Amino acid sequence: MNEFSKLNETTPWQELTEGMKIFTGGNSRDFNTGEWTTIKPVVNEEKCRHCLICTPVCPDSAIPVTESRRGTIDYAHCKGCGICAKACPFGAIEMKPVKPAEKR
Ligand code: SF4
Ligand code: SF4
Repeated sequence: MNEFSKLNETTPWQELTEGMKIFTGGNSRDFNTGEWTTIKPVVNEEKCRHCLICTPVCPDSAIPVTESRRGTIDYAHCKGCGICAKACPFGAIEMKPVKPAEKR
């Protein structure tokens, strides 16, 4: 269990991690933006054609590429913006609610 597991829908904003601060270059991996999200992208593997359009449009680099194929979405860093779902030309990504128990 990590520190984010305690967060749920009753957590006051004062207890959330701070945002909008850049202490050093390339530090985005240190901030689990997935902590904030209320919705998440879920890939329908049967529809996905691994065109990789979703990867560069993700503002959090949460969609990896491994051997020219889309990898598993990094939910610890996905903030649920839905851009990938909009960008996918094959309708393979659906945004679904995140249950409090799923919070990381
Ligand atoms: S854009 Fe859609 S079809 Fe292309 S890799 Fe991403 S999920 Fe798969
Ligand atoms: S919902 Fe947004 S942050 Fe999450 S994987 Fe898609 S584009 Fe990236």
